[in-house]
Amino acid sequence: MEFEFKKSLGQNFLQDKNILKKIVDVSNIKDNSLVVEIGPGSGNLTKEIAKVASIVLCYEIDKRLEPILKNNLQDFNNIDIIFDDFLKRDINNDLNNYQYDNLYVIANLPYYITTPIIEKIIESNLPFQSITVMVQKEVGDRFAATPKTKEYNSLTIFLNYYYNIKKEFIVSKNAFIPKPNVDSIVVTLKKKDNLLYLKDKDLFNKLLKDSFRFKRKTIKNNLNNYDLKIIEKILQKYGFSLTSRAEELPLEVFVEIVNNLE
Ligand code: SAM
Repeated sequence: MEFEFKKSLGQNFLQDKNILKKIVDVSNIKDNSLVVEIGPGSGNLTKEIAKVASIVLCYEIDKRLEPILKNNLQDFNNIDIIFDDFLKRDINNDLNNYQYDNLYVIANLPYYITTPIIEKIIESNLPFQSITVMVQKEVGDRFAATPKTKEYNSLTIFLNYYYNIKKEFIVSKNAFIPKPNVDSIVVTLKKKDNLLYLKDKDLFNKLLKDSFRFKRKTIKNNLNNYDLKIIEKILQKYGFSLTSRAEELPLEVFVEIVNNLE
């Protein structure tokens, strides 16, 4: 393939067919499915998805890939590609054009925008059954982190509110062209059946970000703009105090704080 890879667009293409198949396998695609793929690149993963999905809707920012994708995917008639920046799209509107029973995301993500892409997917409120993404190994560790570890942060809690997160398998940096600096990991996020009641999602997001603003600081210092009396009461109920740090607190504590703040 004659192609000048752009590092700035996170273009590391996965070559190993067994790994590509395995990514699709762990997604467990059911009947009448629509799969959204962000960044099809040359279409390696798209091909494997298209074999099991009813429809694949891809978003690719790099228009130079159009002839390559057209050529590589010519045997399929269930793939649509939007050449645009995924972060700028109104995905709810894009998906209005389709009918499906089951909705998924599968993507080998461009690493420079992993977090905004995942936040956008979740904040769309679309009913994704699962999100299967390949990310940098250290990012995957953060997604699946538990309290009191250095990987545990606001994104961990945000994701764990909506999804059960599983680290599936590690993929060596040698499996990519061009070779990135670090190994990757495939992670699945499966929708939780019962979400905890949350009074205000925006406040939840803000509280998480504020709680982790300065990692070494206590809750009291990071949240001094909030009603600390209410927060203290809830912390005490769970065996914590205002001098605890955000990285010690499980999801339930943040949810209860949000539900009790005015
Ligand atoms: N799916 C291919 C594979 O597995 O080999 C390529 C994955 S590569 C890690 C990431 C892809 O995302 C590249 O094709 C890149 O051009 C594309 N990309 C980067 N930023 C994007 C954005 N904002 N919106 C859509 N696609 C983007």
